[in-house]
Amino acid sequence: MMRVPILDNHVHLHPQGRNVEAARDFAKAGGTHLILSHLPYETVRVTEAEHFLESYEITLRLAESVRREVGIGVDVTVGPYPVLLIGLAEKHGLSHAVEIMKGGMESAKELVLQGKAVGIGEIGRPHFPVSEDVLAASNEIMGFGMSLAKEAGCAVVLHTESATPDSMLEIALMADRVGLPRYRVVKRYCPPLVTEMENSGLFPSVLASRTAIGEALSKGTRFMMETDYLDDLKRPGAVMAITTVPKRTKALLQSGALDEEKAHIIHSENPKKAYGIDIKY
Ligand SMILES: [Zn+2]
Repeated sequence: MMRVPILDNHVHLHPQGRNVEAARDFAKAGGTHLILSHLPYETVRVTEAEHFLESYEITLRLAESVRREVGIGVDVTVGPYPVLLIGLAEKHGLSHAVEIMKGGMESAKELVLQGKAVGIGEIGRPHFPVSEDVLAASNEIMGFGMSLAKEAGCAVVLHTESATPDSMLEIALMADRVGLPRYRVVKRYCPPLVTEMENSGLFPSVLASRTAIGEALSKGTRFMMETDYLDDLKRPGAVMAITTVPKRTKALLQSGALDEEKAHIIHSENPKKAYGIDIKY
């Protein structure tokens, strides 16, 4: 078999988790590139905007360790995790909380401009029902993040409630309003909404289950694959194993459901389009 690029478009690594060892498992299974997304860490409590940078730097250091010790490609996205808004609003009131979250967006954009991150994410809105005020504030913050991404020429990675063709259109229109190209909007944890009718031009990142990827491939190749690996030692079975994307990709290549050209599109051309990055393998 020819060497193919294999990219997991959404993983988290934790300083107290398996981090480099997990990335080594990914590489051993055939994985060549990770998009590492920031999540808040227990060690840095974000109560003011300036705490975000300190927290993002942990993610950047993890990425650097993996590059150095495992030798695979790693690109990073950083941004204020949407659910943080709720705790911040309880502590500071909603309008000040919005300002803090926007400060977190500014720090993320700064790291993109410095070439340390390739996108702002995961950002968006809580995945569970929230009050109308919190939803409106979340949308305002997400729109602000999109406008900064437009200025920086980078992608956003969105965490939202479950995606539907309607919510994809709603988000596409938000991107249009600030001039961010729709292909720079990556919807993570996305069902196989692969056709333009279903995703309105946003980039779906599909959970790498057999059924979801099978359905995605039946519709085309304009999607990426992810595990949303959490690297949480307390919840080892909570999400997919970090080896899932390489294993799935290889099995599909072996069965003929995927060929090398299509694998190339999914694992290299699509991330290149969405993030503007070169995938070496
Ligand atoms: Zn995530």
